[in-house]
Amino acid sequence: MSKKGKIIKTKFGRGSRVCRRCGSHGPVIRRYGLMICRRCFREVAPKIGFKKFS
Ligand SMILES: [Zn+2]
Repeated sequence: MSKKGKIIKTKFGRGSRVCRRCGSHGPVIRRYGLMICRRCFREVAPKIGFKKFS
């Protein structure tokens, strides 16, 4: 018996997550129903009330 018990859970869909702001594929934040990537989030954050987002 091998000790290989690596279980990789992929939470990614099949290219369904696309930033609706810039349209790039990447880590899209679905929080707050934004559906935007991290880059855009940093830009939009202050506009939607996120003053401190590090
Ligand atoms: Zn984006």
